[in-house]
Amino acid sequence: MRYLVLTDIHANLEALGACLAEATWRGYDRALVLGDLVGYGADPNAVIARIQALNPVAIVRGNHDRVACGLEQAEGFNAVAKAAVQWTLGVLTPAHRDWLASLPQGPTMVDDAIEICHGSPFDEDAYIFDELDAVHALKASVRALCLFGHTHCPAVFQLSEGKFDDLRAAGEADTPVPLREAAKYLVNPGSVGQPRDGDPRAAYAIADTGARRVELFRIEYAVNDAQAKVLKAGLPEVLAQRLGVGR
Ligand code: ZN
Repeated sequence: MRYLVLTDIHANLEALGACLAEATWRGYDRALVLGDLVGYGADPNAVIARIQALNPVAIVRGNHDRVACGLEQAEGFNAVAKAAVQWTLGVLTPAHRDWLASLPQGPTMVDDAIEICHGSPFDEDAYIFDELDAVHALKASVRALCLFGHTHCPAVFQLSEGKFDDLRAAGEADTPVPLREAAKYLVNPGSVGQPRDGDPRAAYAIADTGARRVELFRIEYAVNDAQAKVLKAGLPEVLAQRLGVGR
């Protein structure tokens, strides 16, 4: 099975469209969505409609999804994120609000090989950045491959025979990343709609269980169009700026 993996889309329709077009060309069977469909960007309704049309085999909610549909208050959000999520709550259709509110909390088991979560398998809101976080998550995960998002930074961590490796930091994560037997993996494809690793291109992944590998991709998209929509919507200007620099 070839799974298309999308996370942290953040209402960026241009970025999502570019990823879907390229992924369709590459070929995939089913989609996995790791949360934060909305918040920050200007197209929450259109993004939700496109994700619904994909009929993902598994999807989990993100922290922005919970606040944008009114399940939770924006406590803990910074001023910019709060402004964006409140704007989103105001423009979402009632049907899309209800649908977001119905999304499950991760982790969710996809099949015998894969589980998905938003932040981490032990806490949907926890960020996995360093080795300490990653080892905790690798031990908490129950499948050989745990896919996560939330940090907006691509990551490939491996635990093999008790030895931990950050494959991207080690320069060994040139795609495709082979999934070795008896090893556990924790992989973040990076953010579709708001990358924060200094590369403004949209990020997604394809996890191929038959070929035992994960491929991480970056693709250029119409950043200018997404930025113009953010400004036109009256969202904080910094949200348009950061799309251009990927921070
Ligand atoms: Zn996010």
